[in-house]
Amino acid sequence: MADRALRRRCERILADLGLPDAAGVRELCDVLAGRQGRPIHLIGEHLPTSSPCGLAVRTERFDVVFYEAGTSRMHQEHIIRHELGHLICGHLTAPVLDAEASRLLLPDLDPSLVQAVLGRTDYSEVQEKEAEMIASLLLRRSVLARPRPAATEDPVLNRLHHTLIDPGGR
Ligand SMILES: [Zn+2]
Repeated sequence: MADRALRRRCERILADLGLPDAAGVRELCDVLAGRQGRPIHLIGEHLPTSSPCGLAVRTERFDVVFYEAGTSRMHQEHIIRHELGHLICGHLTAPVLDAEASRLLLPDLDPSLVQAVLGRTDYSEVQEKEAEMIASLLLRRSVLARPRPAATEDPVLNRLHHTLIDPGGR
């Protein structure tokens, strides 16, 4: 699939959801949870090095997004947006349970409740591209909605703004 077609499709998916532009990741989770009628919990964990740095888990009653706690906030938010991308695109409909991941990550969660545990390696390449595109579109929307900071105010945000919004600008 051409990247432009992928992008258009992902933009349409987000537009159909009617997500608020300014949403931070927690607000996004709340809105998505409302849309799908199922709570989404965000849990920061020190994930095993062999596992991906994010993981979306679907149970009968709720979804959980695990993200690596031992990394920068910006990276954490990217991981969360990426995993939300999988949720948004419906990648979690297939009931795939990785018993190993379940034992490592969800020792307190009754395995019979878990309908799907998918790590990065379990997704197809197209699904990964979709989730990554959703993640970057969500980031772009959240940055766009913020007031443009003064150059000295927040160099990171400023650079992000420059890269995402105005790549050809000053
Ligand atoms: Zn992924």
